[in-house]
Amino acid sequence: VILLNDFQRQWAETGSEVLATFGCVAASGWYILGPRVKQFEKSLAALWGMNHASGVANGLEAIEIALTALGCRPGDKVLTTPLSAFATTLAILRIGATPVFVDTDAFGLIDLELCRDLLNTRQDIRFFVPVHLYGNSLDLRELGRLQNEFEIDIVEDCAQSILSTFDGVPCGSAGRMAATSFYPTKNLGAMGDGGAILTNDESLKGSIEILRDYGQTGKYRHEAIGWNSRLDEVHAAILNDVYLPRLKPWTHRRCQIARSYLDGIQHPAVRCLGSPRGSHSSWHLFPVLVPPDRKRAFMEWLQSQNVSCAEHYPTAVYRQTALGKASFEIATECATAERICASEVSLPIHPYLTDGEIRDVIQVVNSWRL
Ligand SMILES: *Cc1c(COP(=O)(O)O)cnc(C)c1O
Repeated sequence: VILLNDFQRQWAETGSEVLATFGCVAASGWYILGPRVKQFEKSLAALWGMNHASGVANGLEAIEIALTALGCRPGDKVLTTPLSAFATTLAILRIGATPVFVDTDAFGLIDLELCRDLLNTRQDIRFFVPVHLYGNSLDLRELGRLQNEFEIDIVEDCAQSILSTFDGVPCGSAGRMAATSFYPTKNLGAMGDGGAILTNDESLKGSIEILRDYGQTGKYRHEAIGWNSRLDEVHAAILNDVYLPRLKPWTHRRCQIARSYLDGIQHPAVRCLGSPRGSHSSWHLFPVLVPPDRKRAFMEWLQSQNVSCAEHYPTAVYRQTALGKASFEIATECATAERICASEVSLPIHPYLTDGEIRDVIQVVNSWRL
């Protein structure tokens, strides 16, 4: 079976290095917020092209802590997308803030023209959590302009877009902060949960480091209502020594696979979603669109041919049952996001796919009988 993520192949290639790194941390006797977290934060920030990175426990809390550090409080309105992992909206809800949903464009990215129109009429929206979905980057210049013109604070959700760029500029550098996740399936995945917040603003780094550690400003001095949201030394060391050095080659391989799919997939009812002009994707996912009434059949065909597939995402966030217990706003009709929910299927695009498997995926897609 061709898997969406092949952790066994990854282990076969990296396992001995992971075990050696684990041994070093174990022997050091320092397991939480020590030198390996600091070292990883430095290497991650350098590779990303940002000034500061702070490790946290997961991507959800990365967004929560970033918004809190920027002053987001219960009742505040936060602009965001209805087409994302649930965690994007959950972070806003956990603060007690109110998500305000705006439709996406044809690439599934929140529509920045609609955002501009809304911000023009709505002075009460002070925060914005855009998502660089599937690995595609939103227009970073326009994000920067929205932030300045409307004096809003932006936290970019970069859980799917580590190393993505827009016109050569790194994703995550347009807002006040960027949040990312090291959930195992992400492009830079740990062997467990993890996340990070990136920023170019040194004072924000200070606030994040207080908030992630019980709101502690010094030993037994608690000045904020914080979290226990720390990245472990073991995870940081494995990321730093074993996975981070492979991230560029892994991303390069994802790009090669995407290129093969874009060239090779030719079927009247299967359209590759592709990338908007200016976006250089990290290809976290490879989404294709099929007619909504044929989506089940297409997924069953792939599975019958031993090609794994998934949906990102089958349901607009505001339709989730949990939202019934929360306050939220649907600011524009979300017809485009809904259409993507109804028609999107993700094909395997992990870096351990072989050339033969890439050809097989293309052949299976192209031979689907409607
Ligand atoms: C994975 C993901 C998150 C959440 O990250 P966790 O580490 O699982 O909490 C948030 N946003 C997006 C877009 C994601 O893909």
